[in-house]
Amino acid sequence: MRIYNTLTKQKEEFIPIIPGEVKMYVCGPTVYNFFHIGNGRTFIVFDSIRRYLEYRGYKVTFIQNFTDIDDKMINKANDEGVTVKELGDKYIKEYYEDADALQIERATVNPRATEYIEDIIKFIEELIEAGFAYDIDGDVYYSTKKFSNYGKLAGQNLDDLQAGARISVDERKKDPMDFAVWKSQKPGEPSWESPWGLGRPGWHIECSCMAKKLLGDTIDIHAGGMDLKFPHHENEIAQSEAITGKPFAHYWIHSAFVNVDNKKMSKSLNNFFTAREILEEYDADTVRFLMLSGHYRIQINFTKELLDSAKASIERLYNGINNLENLKEEVNKKIMDDEERSYLKSLDKYRERFVEKMDDDFNTADAISVLFDLTKDINNNVNIGSSVELCKESEALIRELGNPLGILQNHIKKDLEAEIQALIDKRQKARKDKDFALSDKIRDDLKNRNIVLEDTPQGVRWKHIN
Ligand code: AMP
Ligand code: ZN
Repeated sequence: MRIYNTLTKQKEEFIPIIPGEVKMYVCGPTVYNFFHIGNGRTFIVFDSIRRYLEYRGYKVTFIQNFTDIDDKMINKANDEGVTVKELGDKYIKEYYEDADALQIERATVNPRATEYIEDIIKFIEELIEAGFAYDIDGDVYYSTKKFSNYGKLAGQNLDDLQAGARISVDERKKDPMDFAVWKSQKPGEPSWESPWGLGRPGWHIECSCMAKKLLGDTIDIHAGGMDLKFPHHENEIAQSEAITGKPFAHYWIHSAFVNVDNKKMSKSLNNFFTAREILEEYDADTVRFLMLSGHYRIQINFTKELLDSAKASIERLYNGINNLENLKEEVNKKIMDDEERSYLKSLDKYRERFVEKMDDDFNTADAISVLFDLTKDINNNVNIGSSVELCKESEALIRELGNPLGILQNHIKKDLEAEIQALIDKRQKARKDKDFALSDKIRDDLKNRNIVLEDTPQGVRWKHIN
């Protein structure tokens, strides 16, 4: 398996620290609002990567944090007249509701920054002792000049970074690129006791500390959205490697943005759709299909048309499953014969192709094309004369390959079933009444929806055609 490593800017063979196990840390949401589908893409992408690693037999420890203390949290809590803790509790609950609805598997642990304050303080003390951080009037800064590798993830040295950065001017810092690891309390802000007085942790230190605490000094995969590469992840590396002297993460994976009119979807630009509002209109399979139908390192320019086209595509895949589910219910005594067995064996090539695509830096776009090819093959070859076992095995294979993408795990929509059955009954009655105009119309309308009717000894049955 090869992964594009942002640190080395090339695809590398994936070799985990412990064979068969993966330690993965993903930067999670700041819990001050409902998440938007830009955030959702990042969560879906890393959920699929995790699912795929599991599909390939790895035992994955998947950590995704909640940032529950920072300026945005404090401002929003003040606006809403609640405590920062209450705000965090509320939006963590909402996060789970939306993430579950998007068929995102629960993390092994979702650590909350505020539950690790003691460890964070210890981490900062170690940084100060080792000469990598300094305290000025209750604020503690990381000394970027002390870390000779600063800029290795961004691929720039400190001077170039400084020239390009928009940094907050703070006369007291030793160097403009230094960043806060501990912030002294401002009036009205929540705070914790520390050796530097009352205050709260900076954002970057949270992830360094929780990753070390939960996964150890070196982890296999560290991931997040592209915007986190610099400065967030650069700073995490500087902090963690200063303390341990070991590489912090072997593979860095960054997923591309969801844009709107070529601008990053973000709360500040107010150009976002929450996952929740999208889920009112579209199902999770559709949203996931959209997010995974392009490679994770390529930006998506979001439109509703794109969602509509994802909806039509996922329906085509579900139609394949629908047909098989219908066929399974037919009374058919046929036992799987050699011909069917060898046909089933021939489907293995789709599994191999799927794995080949996903092994190549999680190419979900190409993996989805394999799913279409597989479904088409099955649709053309498994039919009313096939054994129930072949139907079951074919369906199981489609679902097996859908699982790493978190799609195609649901059952056919019963309301669609009922609707079509009602139309079939209406058509039968029209035929009996010799109202052929009506019966033909019903048949033609269904055909326009890619549904064909077949007369069988068991009565009229319907089938989707692609
Ligand atoms: P936040 O809540 O802003 O800290 O973001 C949570 C996660 O979503 C981070 O990994 C971000 O990099 C990611 N993210 C934020 N905006 C977008 C976007 N427009 N497209 C894709 N990922 C995003
Ligand atoms: Zn982080």
